[in-house]
Amino acid sequence: MTEARKVLVSACLLGRECRYDARANTDRLLERDLEAHGLEAVAFCPEEHGGLGTPRPPAWIERESAAAVLDGRDRVVTDSGADVTAQFVRGAEGALAACRTHGIERAFLKARSPSCGSCHTHVANTLVEGRGITAELLHRHGIEVTSVEGRRE
Ligand code: SF4
Repeated sequence: MTEARKVLVSACLLGRECRYDARANTDRLLERDLEAHGLEAVAFCPEEHGGLGTPRPPAWIERESAAAVLDGRDRVVTDSGADVTAQFVRGAEGALAACRTHGIERAFLKARSPSCGSCHTHVANTLVEGRGITAELLHRHGIEVTSVEGRRE
């Protein structure tokens, strides 16, 4: 029997209540699609991995982009102005390490998150086009990232 190919999946899409507000984004359609294609999900939450608790304050990229954060020219801040850049970067690095550990080349990440968003993310508390910190780091290292809306039946 061949081993199922593994993919990285935002843990909240798989039912883990790890969102900032301690809710999940359970996506049954994604679960069925992965199974139908013989893909095994490795659940990962970058923000929890980075050391942020749940629930936690909402956070966003302060001024520019995830690329600027990873290059040390921008920060991630909470709604009260606390600097959580280190936790977000640590979470992204953990996601990349998980991909390397499991031989993963593809990730399915929750749309619009400051970590996982791959088409839109939050900059200066506004939803804009661009990647979150984890999606940007995975993209830089050749991991194919697919945006998943979440909460589909
Ligand atoms: S979107 Fe990403 S960082 Fe946010 S709760 Fe889901 S897995 Fe965690």
